[in-house]
Amino acid sequence: MVEREALDEPMRRHECRRGTHECVRHDVNDCRDLEFKLVYHPGYDLNLGEHVFPSKKFGLIHDLLLQEGTAEPSDFVEPEPAADEDVLLVHGLGWVERLRTGTLTMDELLTLEIPYSEAMIRAFWLATGGTILAARNALRDRLGFNLSGGFHHAFPDHGEGFCAIHDVAIAVLKMQKEGLVQKAMVVDCDVHHGNGTAGIFAGDNSVLTLSLHQYNNYPSEKPPSTIDIHLRDGTGDEEYLSRLREACHVAIEGFRPDLLMYIAGADPYFDDQLGGLALTMEGLMARDRLVFEMARSHDVPVAVTLAGGYARNVMDTVAIHCNTVKAARDAYHS
Ligand SMILES: [Zn+2]
Repeated sequence: MVEREALDEPMRRHECRRGTHECVRHDVNDCRDLEFKLVYHPGYDLNLGEHVFPSKKFGLIHDLLLQEGTAEPSDFVEPEPAADEDVLLVHGLGWVERLRTGTLTMDELLTLEIPYSEAMIRAFWLATGGTILAARNALRDRLGFNLSGGFHHAFPDHGEGFCAIHDVAIAVLKMQKEGLVQKAMVVDCDVHHGNGTAGIFAGDNSVLTLSLHQYNNYPSEKPPSTIDIHLRDGTGDEEYLSRLREACHVAIEGFRPDLLMYIAGADPYFDDQLGGLALTMEGLMARDRLVFEMARSHDVPVAVTLAGGYARNVMDTVAIHCNTVKAARDAYHS
């Protein structure tokens, strides 16, 4: 879990494997290099204001990682916005044009559930560029990490539930198109079912979709993923972890993917406003570790995206996402 007390510690200059620098980690053994890049852009903020989706979380995650000494400025890389050509690998031209030109119908806006702005559109294109870059980084470094993305409710011709375009599906199809991977597997641990992912990859045997979610929650219609784990309301750490372990094991052993896209939603947390599972912060970090260790032991590169998180206290959501970085740091060190 996040060490909140560390934030009250003064920054001190010390020397460790990273060289001489200032951070709050006074135990040099605690100050471990990140062996992967964190893809981030200040433009990730979807500009939603007081919306239940705390779109300022992306900047807060970036800042907390630096403050805690988990990351250094040199660990971050900025993505380019995705090219429309890449977005069109998944989405229809009409949908892309209506997003680009601000000509969505009232029905489309209501289904999307976020207010339209140019900044919002730019943020989705940047997040998608970020997930593409994280997938590339995963193939190079074994782990790629986008500090946004996971917009798993987007469909080819419409957006839903705060998701305008499906960054993860776009990144998978782009990696396949470039011949960098043949088989990809999506492990979706957001509390909400990955309906967009299931819809996009239905009938595509080259992509295995695994969604572990609360059954009695959005979306009401759940098109079948390759593997769906429907969890009861109030499912806690122990059952969640054992169901994930079993499903992940079966999928990875049977399918042998070339790339794993991990959608690390923070919303299975017990104090989430849009979730009804009961995971603790420790349970969520154990979940992250489980995915990373399983992928690592099977030598499968992993690209991480963040997806949802609506804790009553936004800093809980931020801490859960930062813990995913720490779990990755601990799993991927030489
Ligand atoms: Zn969610």
